[in-house]
Amino acid sequence: MQEITYIGDYMDSNESLRETPILPERILLGPGPSMVNPIIMEAMMTPMIGYLDPDFMDIIDEVSTLLGKAYRSSGTSMALTGTGSSGMEAGLSSILEPGDTVIICAYGYFCERMVEMAQRLGANVVPLRSEWGKPFPEESLERELKHHRNVKMVSAIHGETSTGIEQPLNNIAALTEEYETLLMVDAVTTFGGTVIETDGLGIDYIYSATQKCVGAPPGLSPVSLSDRALNSIRSRTQKPFSWYLDLDLITNYWKKPRAYHHTTPVSLIMAVRKSLEMMLKEGLEARSKRHKDNANALIAGLESMGLKPVAPPEHRLAQITPVWIPEGVDDDFVRSTLLNEYNIEIGKGLGDLSGKVWRIGLMGESSKKAHVLALLNGLGDILPNTGFNVNKNTAMRAAEATYTAVPSNI
Ligand SMILES: *Cc1c(COP(=O)(O)O)cnc(C)c1O
Repeated sequence: MQEITYIGDYMDSNESLRETPILPERILLGPGPSMVNPIIMEAMMTPMIGYLDPDFMDIIDEVSTLLGKAYRSSGTSMALTGTGSSGMEAGLSSILEPGDTVIICAYGYFCERMVEMAQRLGANVVPLRSEWGKPFPEESLERELKHHRNVKMVSAIHGETSTGIEQPLNNIAALTEEYETLLMVDAVTTFGGTVIETDGLGIDYIYSATQKCVGAPPGLSPVSLSDRALNSIRSRTQKPFSWYLDLDLITNYWKKPRAYHHTTPVSLIMAVRKSLEMMLKEGLEARSKRHKDNANALIAGLESMGLKPVAPPEHRLAQITPVWIPEGVDDDFVRSTLLNEYNIEIGKGLGDLSGKVWRIGLMGESSKKAHVLALLNGLGDILPNTGFNVNKNTAMRAAEATYTAVPSNI
């Protein structure tokens, strides 16, 4: 048998490494990261390999193909290094040149992040702001498209995680087609939890993150780019400000000529390959239904306790449910007790909703009936201790009942 060389060989024989701390196994019901299936963690435990190794190039091709299927896109699909925000910044900085007009539909915290990024790039940014917690009024986009000439791109967020709104994309996509502008969509929260028809809607650039509904660790941003968008990037007059996030240069690694750009995070690519395989095996429609069913059960339980979701029923995201914190209830006490005594993480409010809402995520591996019931159980115990009376058993039964409420055809 071949002898294995341990790290100790080049350490002083008296030195020992400190033990790696064992982190608690949390039930992650916040805005991400969500839980990761052990099969996916295991997929990262392959020997390290070079990012241009022919065997690894096969993996890159496979991930690109799987991503294209998951996005329902015939464009160029890749996994960028970095979290969801790198996908956002890569799109804005690769597509927009200084002075280009971009209309950003803005109805929440992450929309404002997009506005900020686009402004830093020196683009002519037109933020179209509408009330948080409501879907974006598409009529205002048409007015704006008529008003400005030469709009290069319109961007929108499919799932605004700060408010829990799922923004319908059909009308926005119809308008960008009619007015011949590019369309960029943030699918950070929705990808892997809702079916997205990237080709069908004519989306030119779409991006997500691995740690929400994809079910892999944080660190990559899966994206897909239409030929139209790629051609537009290739015919820029000035090079993009960001070298690292230049989608043209990154495409040259993911497709031919396979040119070195930056070192690919090999292990994360192995994880995302496995998670995409699992996603497609479950089926995009089935996965979307699972997310909806669990969200409906959660909402039935929360409403039975007297907690109210921020988003109106017809525009609710299944992936994350922001709910109003009842008057007088201590935000930090509830979240820290859930974490310390029930091992459950939920998210706090962002921006204008900071301190006013909790954000409960049921994404990817976290979207499970057992987690819904565990959370209702925890909240049912904790809320009465902060002066807000609830009937835990009624709430849990209300959640349970939604799973059997669908009448059977048989
Ligand atoms: C989480 C999130 C982001 C940011 O993603 P990071 O992975 O934290 O960089 C962007 N947009 C939306 C809608 C999000 O929910």
